[in-house]
Amino acid sequence: MYNDYAYLLGSKRSCIRELFEYGCRRAAIVGRENIYDYSLGNPSMPAPDAVTETIRDLLQDTDPVALHGYTSAVGDAATRQAIADDLNERYAAGVRPENLFITGGAAPALTAVFRALSVTGAEVLALAPFFPEYRPFAEAAGLGFKVVAPDVPHFQIKLDALEAQLTENTVAIIVNSPNNPSGVVYTRETLTALAALLTKKANEYGHPIYIVSDEPYRELAYGGVEVPFIPTIYADTVVCYSYSKSLSLPGERIGYIYVPENATDSKNLYLAIAGAARAAGHVCAPSLWQKVIGRCTQLRPDLDAYDRNRTRLYNALTEMGYEMAQPDGAFYLFIKAPGGDANAFSERAKALDLLVVPGDDFGCPGYFRICYCVRPEMIEKSLPAFKALIG
Ligand code: PLP
Repeated sequence: MYNDYAYLLGSKRSCIRELFEYGCRRAAIVGRENIYDYSLGNPSMPAPDAVTETIRDLLQDTDPVALHGYTSAVGDAATRQAIADDLNERYAAGVRPENLFITGGAAPALTAVFRALSVTGAEVLALAPFFPEYRPFAEAAGLGFKVVAPDVPHFQIKLDALEAQLTENTVAIIVNSPNNPSGVVYTRETLTALAALLTKKANEYGHPIYIVSDEPYRELAYGGVEVPFIPTIYADTVVCYSYSKSLSLPGERIGYIYVPENATDSKNLYLAIAGAARAAGHVCAPSLWQKVIGRCTQLRPDLDAYDRNRTRLYNALTEMGYEMAQPDGAFYLFIKAPGGDANAFSERAKALDLLVVPGDDFGCPGYFRICYCVRPEMIEKSLPAFKALIG
């Protein structure tokens, strides 16, 4: 006997993984250099040297029992203080260590927040296009999951579509900016209008509608574009942050949840999140990595390589006639499939050993995603295939 939903999730592989594994099999036959794999969002830059040096220092100057021992479930106090200091310096946000809960990355952060918000009949809304894992995280937490239609072609937020989906059962909407898969950064104007709509509706329903702000790409923004810190625009925001992309540490599992002091029911919501994490088996985030982060909160990624890839691909593909939204952040381009059928396009591309992910699982059929944290030589070699596909 086993749980049917869990079986379904375990047996149905994600389209991204499927493509990635197909690429590995093809690479074994034709050579890795002949596969143009744009499927997976794994950072291609190493963690900054300062991270490696910090690990070395910690191993030398810290008592090993303390270094590898359990921390409190909410996270190491000095690390939470360092994160709070950094956020306050950047956003004047009034963050206190008591508002922070350290997790093993954004995925368990989202899961804990969804579980904490799960009351009978509650629903969350995702704005298409969205990270596909939101659905299993929310549904397994017992939440209804609804999708708001995309704001084509700019991929900001379609407020009238959102308003039409809001009901008394809506407890939260998930916001992800810079966005996976569109690469779009929501403007201050968009977020201010969103805040006004949610405030109006929360007053009407007599309960808060939280924004769950999923922020693994907060530091990945190009050309000086502003990534507004949403809690300073809308207090009922719960931030789920991750160091997976900003410090290139996706396998190490480290991030945090921030519940602003002035969010509705802040203290109780924080405790519910702590309880939800506990029930999901959270003991503490990896201890060594908590201590590394405690000394590295001020590090920012070197974005030059990603930015060069972004510019090269955006310019080359738009010149060929591909259409996409302005990719100001993260490391993805979300492109309109020539002919309109992204699955058919992805299959045609596969025949040229070009791997691109159809947008269906992101809630946005007719588009495909490419991830540009790849080698620049691969980009150059892949351009003729893109050209042949649109030709
Ligand atoms: N949210 C988004 C939008 C992502 O793209 C990812 C990972 O790719 C995650 C969450 C999960 O990140 P983490 O590695 O911190 O669990």
